[in-house]
Amino acid sequence: MKVVFLGTAAGRPTRERSLPCIALQFEGETILFDCGENAQRQMISVVSPSKIGRIFISHFHGDHYLGLGGLLQTMSLNKRETPLSIYGPQGTIEYLKHYFASGHFGVRFDISLFEMGEATIEEELYSIRSFPVDHGVPTIGFVFEEKEKRGRFLEKKAKSLGIRGRLFSDIEEKGQIEIDGRVITLEEVTGPPRKGRKVVYSADTLPCQRVVEMAHHCDMLIHEGTYLNDEDRHGTYHTTVSEACEIAKKAGVKTLVLTHVSQRYEEEEIKEEAEKWLPGTVIARDLMEIEM
Ligand SMILES: [Zn+2]
Ligand SMILES: [Zn+2]
Repeated sequence: MKVVFLGTAAGRPTRERSLPCIALQFEGETILFDCGENAQRQMISVVSPSKIGRIFISHFHGDHYLGLGGLLQTMSLNKRETPLSIYGPQGTIEYLKHYFASGHFGVRFDISLFEMGEATIEEELYSIRSFPVDHGVPTIGFVFEEKEKRGRFLEKKAKSLGIRGRLFSDIEEKGQIEIDGRVITLEEVTGPPRKGRKVVYSADTLPCQRVVEMAHHCDMLIHEGTYLNDEDRHGTYHTTVSEACEIAKKAGVKTLVLTHVSQRYEEEEIKEEAEKWLPGTVIARDLMEIEM
């Protein structure tokens, strides 16, 4: 499982930072969170558009979705046939229908649009849950959670019961096998189930209690850290670096990754501020990859 930061700027791009886009790669599938302008160019040699099955848009401020058009065009030029699902907050269907109706857009594969407020998508190996945050316009955050995995094989025990070679895959597939008339269950030869990994992404928001709740004990919280102080925030619906650190502390997250940083600061300044409040905080950079 890998998280790739394709764009980490706020509002407008800089030489070093493209607009918000995060790719989560999991078991051969790529899930995209936000798709700012230039997202498809950032993907070159890093993320294959053909592997993207789902795109989640946090909200419809231009910096978070205007890369969709170009990406979909490229998918179509690549002769994509696999359907694509796009999810977003209230208004998604109307906004995207207008967007796709502009010019000779001509995308030739099926796109399904979904609006999510508080909702959960269940897959065999993971779930994705959306929750509203506080950004002045309909905006949602996302929780990606891997399903609980079976415990590791207790190899010594398994071998002492006569399990060897192909029998390991047999018991895994069937849940139990019989050796010399004795039934051995998978639970007998595996440790306790392992908790799945959990990644939470909250894009633009004022500090929000819902994020604290949803990010509870997650492995990674990706949070905006647009400003360094309230003066710079100037009444906008964004979070400062210190506030994002406080949220991560309250939620007890393992790793906080700050993204959506304002172009007015040097990365060093942001790093310094974050170190003051939550040592070990990661400041996302374009094309940064975090293996989990
Ligand atoms: Zn933004
Ligand atoms: Zn916004």
